Amino acid sequence: MSGKTVVIGAGIGGLTAALLLAQAGMDVTVCEAAAAPGGKLRELDVGGAKIDAGPTVFTLRPIFETVFAEAGARLEDHLTLERLDILARHAWEDGARLDLFADAARNIEAIGAFAGPAAARGYEKFSLRAKQVFETLDAGFMQAPQPGLMGLVRNVGAKRGGGLLNLSPFASLWDEVGKYFANPKLQQLFGRYATYCGSSPFTAPATLMLIAHAEQLGVWRITGGMHRLAVALADLAAARGATFRYRAAVADITAAGGRVTGVTLADGEVIAADSVIANVDLAALDAGRFGPAAAQAVAGMMKGAARSLSAVTWAITGTAAGFALAHHNVFFSRNYPAEFVAIGNGQLPPDPTIYLCAPAEQKFFCLVNAPPQGDENRPQEAEMQACLARTLDKFKRCGLSLTPEAMVSTGPPQFATMFPATGGALYGRALEGWRDSFARPGSGTRLPGLYLAGGSVHPGPGLPMAAMSGRLAARRLLADSASTNPSRPAAMPGGMSTRSRKTAKTR
Ligand SMILES: Cc1cc2nc3c(=O)[nH]c(=O)nc-3n(C[C@H](O)[C@H](O)[C@H](O)COP(=O)(O)OP(=O)(O)OC[C@H]3O[C@@H](n4cnc5c(N)ncnc54)[C@H](O)[C@@H]3O)c2cc1C
Repeated sequence: MSGKTVVIGAGIGGLTAALLLAQAGMDVTVCEAAAAPGGKLRELDVGGAKIDAGPTVFTLRPIFETVFAEAGARLEDHLTLERLDILARHAWEDGARLDLFADAARNIEAIGAFAGPAAARGYEKFSLRAKQVFETLDAGFMQAPQPGLMGLVRNVGAKRGGGLLNLSPFASLWDEVGKYFANPKLQQLFGRYATYCGSSPFTAPATLMLIAHAEQLGVWRITGGMHRLAVALADLAAARGATFRYRAAVADITAAGGRVTGVTLADGEVIAADSVIANVDLAALDAGRFGPAAAQAVAGMMKGAARSLSAVTWAITGTAAGFALAHHNVFFSRNYPAEFVAIGNGQLPPDPTIYLCAPAEQKFFCLVNAPPQGDENRPQEAEMQACLARTLDKFKRCGLSLTPEAMVSTGPPQFATMFPATGGALYGRALEGWRDSFARPGSGTRLPGLYLAGGSVHPGPGLPMAAMSGRLAARRLLADSASTNPSRPAAMPGGMSTRSRKTAKTR
């Protein structure tokens, strides 16, 4: 057996790792519990229509360009991407509307018209600050293999005009956004970026403003749906020699003599391997769902971790009238603090903020944040139904009449089944203070041969971050493998740019 790796999970982190390892000549088998690749990046059949029921906002395209290039391919040969002019359309019940645009100059104008010249100036300053935070953390933290405060201090501490303290590490996103925007609607709009990491704006660190800059760099739609990204990565990995086993749930990560020996599937089949990449939630490993060796390997890594948000989602076919929907739309609650108090109390918000994606005529995907208590079977079906009724009512109050014909709903209990030991939390640990961003582990574990990838580990949730984690895991595995067997192919080139690539390397 030489250079054999099992990747558990075909989420975006696992797919990226599998692709890059296969490209490097490793013998890779991906074991995925579900019937298709993608994990959270999934597609549902709703009365015969295919609707994305996971991520819908595609950002940081250059990260995926790098992954494809490192696999000897070009992203644009595998996916058709269209840059959106309108990043999102925002609506409130009092009739207020605000579009954010890809063109920052249009945003200054739009925000000025929405809330006056001071708000427009606030936006300009906020954007500069978000850019600064993004650029400080991008290479120095997000792309760095070894997370941790000390690493960040080493990498960026003294640089970039003020270094770490310039990041407002101790402020909450909500308070920091409030310094730029006196208008409560704008504070709500820009504070909402915390929920992209499954966190509350009221406790999440101000550094999450970098997400605003990531969106400003470009939001893309994928022709045929977001799920195409997972299929493209899986197809390319298979073309590079990876083997995919679907409906192959792993029950145990086995070890002997102090290192990984492979996995055992739920049906008892044993697959021997030199190394294993676990693209499952860290909570599942920690809870012993993959056996004692894996639990010991990650012991302590979840210390103090609170669960991130879950969601109630509805993939809908039907008709919409009365409101000109953009691709991405947000309908805000009247009282943002009350929404997060309700979630903190384990309830679905009485007046939720609703995200609505309208990818095509008569197709919709709707999301409301929810507490991560799916493992307690909460909320129950009746509460989810009541939440749907409130959601449709709220749309009406905002001028949108949405009439569903067919629908598939997914709530915390269903997410908890798909992502065991999480309670339906969708983004790993919640960020409840400045330390939490540094608390996510990197790709290594205490068990030689066992590596981690995915949204619950460094650099965190979101498609580009999960892809980065898969790449970091692949790099580390190859480096370890080369150090124990110098004849094995190891190095993958270069760093990972968040700027667009002009050329792709070929195989
Ligand atoms: C509703 C929703 C909306 C989102 N919106 C966005 C967005 O707009 N933009 C964005 O960038 N991000 C978004 N995200 C976050 C993003 O989807 C995730 O951070 C990312 O997809 C996580 O990838 P991952 O690598 O952690 O793998 P996951 O997607 O978590 O996949 C893990 C895989 O492991 C498999 N698995 C679990 N247990 C086993 C086992 N025992 N054996 C074998 N396989 C197993 C699972 O079936 C799954 O396929 C959203 C997430 C959700 C749920």
